Amino acid sequence: MAENTDPAKRPHVVIVGAGFGGLFAARGLRRADVDITIIDRQNYHLFQPLLYQVATAGLAPSDIAWPIRGILSRQKNVTVLLDEVADVNVESNEVLLSDRRLSFDYLVLATGARHAYFGHQDWEPFAPGLKSIDDATEIRRRVLMTFERAEMTDDTAERERLLNFVIVGAGPTGVELAGAIAELARRTLAADFRRIDSRSARVILVEAGSKVLPALSAELSDYAETALQKLGVEVLLGNAVTQCDSNGVMVANKPIPAATVLWAAGVAASPAGSWLDAETDRAGRVKVTDDLSAANHSNIFVIGDTAAVKDAKGSAVPGIAPAAKQQGRYVASVIRARAEGKKQPAAFRYRHSGNLATIGRKSAVIELPFMRFSGLFAWWVWGLAHIYFLIGVRSPFTVASNWLWQYITYGRGARLITGDKTNSPS
Ligand SMILES: Cc1cc2nc3c(=O)[nH]c(=O)nc-3n(C[C@H](O)[C@H](O)[C@H](O)COP(=O)(O)OP(=O)(O)OC[C@H]3O[C@@H](n4cnc5c(N)ncnc54)[C@H](O)[C@@H]3O)c2cc1C
Repeated sequence: MAENTDPAKRPHVVIVGAGFGGLFAARGLRRADVDITIIDRQNYHLFQPLLYQVATAGLAPSDIAWPIRGILSRQKNVTVLLDEVADVNVESNEVLLSDRRLSFDYLVLATGARHAYFGHQDWEPFAPGLKSIDDATEIRRRVLMTFERAEMTDDTAERERLLNFVIVGAGPTGVELAGAIAELARRTLAADFRRIDSRSARVILVEAGSKVLPALSAELSDYAETALQKLGVEVLLGNAVTQCDSNGVMVANKPIPAATVLWAAGVAASPAGSWLDAETDRAGRVKVTDDLSAANHSNIFVIGDTAAVKDAKGSAVPGIAPAAKQQGRYVASVIRARAEGKKQPAAFRYRHSGNLATIGRKSAVIELPFMRFSGLFAWWVWGLAHIYFLIGVRSPFTVASNWLWQYITYGRGARLITGDKTNSPS
């Protein structure tokens, strides 16, 4: 179907992706005189910042993901579709779903990002990345199964390999995974096994760059490196992984045998750029105009991790949740103004609220535009900030009490091995 020409019909806004960007765009249009269809291939909105806790058996999946229908049930101008968008026809203003087409007056593409293996896609089966609940439960299964298998084997070398955990990439996700696995081995599981000492597990964080948490100041990076080492994490800086297979990895021409290798080294945008045949940056993010619309398509907006946006100083806006939320809110205000025939808001301006990362259960680093701090106090600020981020998606009280319980009990309820037990790391 071609563009809507019926003046009696309300504009139809199609939003693809119910992550932070898409959800905040839909929310921003709740009082607008438009009909919205939000499409996601998952039936849940995922709070990705805490995925590493599901992957390391600290939280259960239902603590960090909520059905999209439930979140939007009271917003009567929204219809939710569980489907995957395969392409966009920019001539006819239609999105192509698995078995049909849907026309739009405005389109918001908020399809996020996926892992990038820098030309080594064949490493993915041996070094899974962390992006979805399925990834997290698969990693949790692999991590917990290696301890089970180490308990059973009589082969010393194999036991050593099973108890080696390699994390590739020392950005926030890599640092958080390494800290959490070290605590899992040294605290949570310490009394659970009889033949192995889980505390002897090696957790090795490999980073090609010269520091951990490269987006932070040297002072906070150094702090984070020391905090990781205190947790027992071995930090290998300035070395890229050159080979990865079922035996482990090669780093600096030396093999590191490991049954569990986790990939936290790179992201690539969703294929939205190819759907629009638009100009993209090196990570595949669509270069957008000042109002976040795609060049030559003023009714198609691209936001969040799949958009290349510049801040006021000309630097790239980071792929983080607050940026996606701000962009979602902004495109909602543009669409609403246009639908109501009002003046369009000024160009999008990104406001950076800071960078934060946690290292285990007692330490974090926080860099705000006006100050930086680290340690236990930073950890509490990190926790409160995450609860605050959830306001609008879920009751912060429910989330806070769940987390507190998991914190006190070391996530006992989340330590389940699900999925195929035979198909485990070899
Ligand atoms: C492990 C991890 C930890 C992170 N930690 C932090 C943190 O601590 N702080 C922070 O600020 N940010 C963090 N981030 C980044 C943050 O989560 C992202 O920047 C943010 O989620 C981007 O929002 P988005 O709406 O662009 O995409 P997403 O939230 O990724 O949402 C994209 C949505 O689109 C859907 N989708 C994709 N393709 C299709 C398709 N073809 N058809 C239909 N649906 C589709 C997906 O199912 C998904 O629901 C983290 C990310 C990860 C992976």
